[in-house]
Amino acid sequence: MAAISCPHCKQNTFSWWDKYRASKWFLLTCDGCKRRSCAQPVVLAAIYFLYVWDVMLFGYLAYLDSLWFLLVMVVGWLILDYFTIYVPLSPLRDKPQPK
Ligand SMILES: [Zn+2]
Repeated sequence: MAAISCPHCKQNTFSWWDKYRASKWFLLTCDGCKRRSCAQPVVLAAIYFLYVWDVMLFGYLAYLDSLWFLLVMVVGWLILDYFTIYVPLSPLRDKPQPK
């Protein structure tokens, strides 16, 4: 099920699972044009800042107050995970050829 277009050749060669993997800092290689893409790194860095904030805040609140905050932390994590699917893909330059 290919639904996401490659930023190089604009063909729908990536699946939603590929897009999810790209949000975990994986590089994607297009089946059509064999060129590489990644999720937009600046947006990913902001999202990973929110992951850290989620764990620090709700982990600390769970330590101080109630273990229910661990559930809030997990729900916050899952919500962030959902939104990582929508991080746009960026084209990467081709690997330099060995001389
Ligand atoms: Zn392509």
